[in-house]
Amino acid sequence: MQCELCGRDCDGRPAAVEGVRMMLCPDCLRQHGTSVKETFESPDVVQKPVLGGIKKHRVKDVYKDMDKELVSGWNDLIKSARKKKGLSRDELGFRIGERTVTIGKIENGDLRPSDKIVKKLEKELDITLVEEVKSVSNVSAGFQSGSGLTLGDFIKEEK
Ligand SMILES: [Zn+2]
Repeated sequence: MQCELCGRDCDGRPAAVEGVRMMLCPDCLRQHGTSVKETFESPDVVQKPVLGGIKKHRVKDVYKDMDKELVSGWNDLIKSARKKKGLSRDELGFRIGERTVTIGKIENGDLRPSDKIVKKLEKELDITLVEEVKSVSNVSAGFQSGSGLTLGDFIKEEK
């Protein structure tokens, strides 16, 4: 057997020199070659995992973009709820720690109650004054980590 690099008669071994499969003597193998085993074995290992990028994809925080808005007719709602409870503006104002004149302005719709007052009114009158407005669609939910879906599953579902 002849070394393909130096031409010397020797016990040639399969090796890879810059990706080319050659028979090399032990000396050349040490200097130039990489053992074939290392270089040519299971090229599948080199493949990049398909889901590598998707697993890192973070689902957008839905709540971040959620806005709270007062329900329409909130002032009438407060007024009727107060009357249902049999409270005067004085009494309601006393209970939530606001001045009577403030209650009056709120009920007339002249004053938009702060979040703090809204919470106190909701609790005191058993009403809901804010509605949550979702401005973000949840399209990427399928990619949530731990959902068990692969990219393949997702594509299949899309079709
Ligand atoms: Zn050689």
